[in-house]
Amino acid sequence: MNIDLSELQKEDVLSIHIEGELNKNVLDASERNIKNLKYVEYRGDIYKADEGKIVHVDIHYEYEEVCSRCLTIFTGKGSTILSGRLIKNNNEIEEIDDEIIYYNGENVDLTDDILDMVILSLPMKPLCKKDCKGLCPKCGINLNKRKCDCVLEGIDPRLEKLKDFVPKEGGDV
Ligand SMILES: [Zn+2]
Ligand SMILES: [Zn+2]
Repeated sequence: MNIDLSELQKEDVLSIHIEGELNKNVLDASERNIKNLKYVEYRGDIYKADEGKIVHVDIHYEYEEVCSRCLTIFTGKGSTILSGRLIKNNNEIEEIDDEIIYYNGENVDLTDDILDMVILSLPMKPLCKKDCKGLCPKCGINLNKRKCDCVLEGIDPRLEKLKDFVPKEGGDV
């Protein structure tokens, strides 16, 4: 992506329209297991402002990820907005501000900024559906697809670890 901002120097030009699709199929989101970024579409405008320029871009994306409960690959969709100020980087001390995007020269590339917004807008936990039943802890069957006759004795294995946090009476703490 290479957006030429020099158009905005013309007096009668108030904004530049940008739209397209990012040519990316891997999303580098740490601790996530995104298999395939199907598309990231963006559409928006860059406006002239008193101080720098204002960017406002709608983003739509689709991806494949592994469900954290049933471990199958599902397709997720999302949308978000990139909104902020574009400021020319004149090598002075940079303000650290999420809403400021620095650029050099007359061109700007918003690819990384768009991908950052995509990562921020991903749901906290990857789930194929809200009420995913997950896998049977005993036989491993995908409970969304089939039922099993396993009897789960004792405590839920997810709670088992909590035992260790309960202080023992009379013990050393
Ligand atoms: Zn699932
Ligand atoms: Zn089972």
